[in-house]
Amino acid sequence: DELISQIAAGEVVERPASVVRELVDNALDAGATQIQLKLMAGGVRAIVVEDDGLGIPVEELPLALKRHATSKIRSLDELESVSTMGFRGEALAAIASVAEMAIATRCEGAPHAHRLEARSGELKVAARSRGTSVEVRELFFSTPARRKFLKTDATELAHCLEAVRRHALARPDVGFTVWHEGKLVEQWRAASSEQRLADVLGEEFMAQSRPVFAEAGPLLRIYGRAGLPEAARSRSDMQYVYVNGRYVRDKLIAHGIRAAYEDVLHGNRQPSYVLFIDIAPDRVDVNVHPTKIEVRFRDGREIHQKVRYAVQDALALSRS
Ligand code: ADP
Ligand code: MG
Repeated sequence: DELISQIAAGEVVERPASVVRELVDNALDAGATQIQLKLMAGGVRAIVVEDDGLGIPVEELPLALKRHATSKIRSLDELESVSTMGFRGEALAAIASVAEMAIATRCEGAPHAHRLEARSGELKVAARSRGTSVEVRELFFSTPARRKFLKTDATELAHCLEAVRRHALARPDVGFTVWHEGKLVEQWRAASSEQRLADVLGEEFMAQSRPVFAEAGPLLRIYGRAGLPEAARSRSDMQYVYVNGRYVRDKLIAHGIRAAYEDVLHGNRQPSYVLFIDIAPDRVDVNVHPTKIEVRFRDGREIHQKVRYAVQDALALSRS
């Protein structure tokens, strides 16, 4: 069982940023409106994610850590095929197998909070308001070989911040606060989508980008901002694509965007952009792999073309 968890962990938890991504996902799933992250040593020493969401009923608390569907994986050979189905219900168990973990949580109407320590299984009464705090300490403490693969604290912190940024762009209605070593490093208050883009990506990007908007009936909407060549020079890693609110990396969409840049600006190798694609759920398959999120559109050609034209329009209008 322990071994299985560690195998799964190898897929789910690559570095502190993977933990951040999973914990923030969970906080958002729980309906949080405020999420606070406290990191130590780039997240390697500690990652604490506090939310004001629904909380976990105390009787379900031990289950939250054990819910992984280990019966599905009986051999390493199977792992490959299983991974394509995603790892639903495995994140907390996987993280707990490669780090010290504790969960403090309180539901509405509960007389007090509870804190469960994963390793000892010790359950105690605790103090906190409604919501959940997940504490992850000493990542890879028991697997020094993997710990050695981690980069400097500054690099790991940068990856953690990027993970929060990806969530923050998609959820302007949620407030995010990030602390590192006791210092406030990011604070994004709940805001309009436009304001959140400015807060996260900077006024400079806003000034050097143009709005994208295209609609094809009620089933497809493409919107966001496309950076002008100036913006590309300031930061080349600013490429965000969301499908139905989920951050994705998709070759088809990336290609459509790049084609638009080539059409209009005749070659802009590293464009910056934020693109949200809202599409009827039955027109897209979302395949959640632990480390990458893939989408398959029922009509890929149409999406490619719509994305290309939408970005073309945004860029062309900016030149006239
Ligand atoms: P999954 O999110 O795929 O269900 P996880 O291992 O990430 O699997 O979480 C296990 C379960 O623990 C969740 O289904 C949820 O019931 C509970 N949980 C985890 N984090 C939180 C949280 N921040 N607030 C409320 N419930 C949570
Ligand atoms: Mg989860």
